[in-house]
Amino acid sequence: MEKVYIGLGSNLADPPAQVETGLRALAQLPRTRLAARSRPYRSMPWGRTDQPTFVNAVARLDTGLEPRELLGQLLAIERRAGREREGARWGPRVLDLDILLYGDCCIDEPGLRVPHPHLHERAFVLVPLAEIAPDLDIPGHGRVADLLARIDASACAPFVVDARVAE
Ligand code: ADP
Ligand code: MG
Repeated sequence: MEKVYIGLGSNLADPPAQVETGLRALAQLPRTRLAARSRPYRSMPWGRTDQPTFVNAVARLDTGLEPRELLGQLLAIERRAGREREGARWGPRVLDLDILLYGDCCIDEPGLRVPHPHLHERAFVLVPLAEIAPDLDIPGHGRVADLLARIDASACAPFVVDARVAE
């Protein structure tokens, strides 16, 4: 079994419900246990700012799935959630599931890069990751809590229903 961290994100079609559905789907993967999950967080859009607010979370899995098998399963969960891939990169999405870390593996292949190349600089990943694994070491970058201390994380805060912005 490997310790794997997955980033979840949604900004379409009831994002908090999409994230919870994604977490349930992760828990049901073969040879996999959902070992920990963060709270949901509300995050301002990254990359392209002219789109709805995101809900993000991070999960830790203990899994016997190989990296490629796991990626295939994640893409299948995204498709079942109704995600279409024609849209622009970093555009709105029903559900996005990224492999952030897979044990201490470094993978750099077409279609699969682990650790996820932008993980160490994105508040919407580091904030939920720090909730469940502050001492985790990101190969080549350092401890999660230290990385978080170095960035502006003000655009990512715990999601509470009352704080939902009108869209
Ligand atoms: P992003 O998550 O960067 O906004 P997409 O979700 O649209 O972009 O990109 C999905 C593609 O990224 C997948 O088809 C997959 O092959 C590739 N990819 C590369 N590395 C990873 C990773 N660590 N986790 C998930 N997908 C990855
Ligand atoms: Mg993705």
